[in-house]
Amino acid sequence: MRVSAAAHIATPLMTASSTPYLLAAALTLATSAALAEPPERFDVAVTVDDVPLHGDLPPGMTRIGIARATLDTLKAHGVVEAFGFVNAGRAEKEPGSEAVLDLWRQAGHPLGNHTASHMNLERASSFDAWRADVLAGEPAVSARMVGVNWRWLRFPNLAVGARRAEALAFLDARGYQVADVSLAFGDWVYTDAYARCVAKGDTAAIDAMKRQYFQEIDAGIVQMKENSRRVYGRVIPQVLLTHLGGWSAVTLPEVLRRLDAAGAHYVTLAEAQRDPAYAEPGGGNLITRAAAARGIKLVADTPAPAPTLDVKAQCR
Ligand SMILES: [Zn+2]
Repeated sequence: MRVSAAAHIATPLMTASSTPYLLAAALTLATSAALAEPPERFDVAVTVDDVPLHGDLPPGMTRIGIARATLDTLKAHGVVEAFGFVNAGRAEKEPGSEAVLDLWRQAGHPLGNHTASHMNLERASSFDAWRADVLAGEPAVSARMVGVNWRWLRFPNLAVGARRAEALAFLDARGYQVADVSLAFGDWVYTDAYARCVAKGDTAAIDAMKRQYFQEIDAGIVQMKENSRRVYGRVIPQVLLTHLGGWSAVTLPEVLRRLDAAGAHYVTLAEAQRDPAYAEPGGGNLITRAAAARGIKLVADTPAPAPTLDVKAQCR
């Protein structure tokens, strides 16, 4: 990739003029590009929430199509494992969407539990109601994971709150590990706006959304590395959260391209969470949680320029 970047820089300069100065400038650019240090490698486990379906379905897309596109992208980028976190109740509400679960397994990726109805632990009417939703989410997962450890739970909305100790004790007794999150880009914010903009054929709005989202990806990666160094003194193995929706499927190739360029090396969830940084399970973002516990100020705490686009207002 660095070679083609260098060629790209050199060609227009050399054809525009052959004065020695421009040639020298072109060579300097080409040489510095070729000698640029590769980015420091860091491990990333990819996880995909809200399987088999997340958010509004854009016209012209199907749930199976979204899953296929996502699986193809993961394969193209050498993602060794992508845990899919299942809401079994949502599958039942949209007949035919359970086929996504089988497709996920056929592609060699594991499934875990995200509760049957995507019940938020903090907002649940009672702890018992939430526990029942965890149990109701199990059969669709366990039936497709015979002989494989499926006892991983991703908290819906990453919400834990005051029921944390109770939830962790219950999950531990049932043999679960909590699937943590250290890296997320807010793809879910764009999901329904994208479906509306596709329905309206508003390509200008979609392009503006993509520009903003990809800027957020770049900033998010830089911020993650800086914050990880502040809290742990190193870039810890990451657990990336993305979703199985239309927007996420369409943008994932570019997201992974940017992660690859930043030094991402893909590992399994168990490998990433074997790192001591993951010793204390909880809700929200791992790095934010650890920083708060240790009184460390994060880059995100400094005011950033406001996004130029109000995503949720697009294409109304
Ligand atoms: Zn979710």
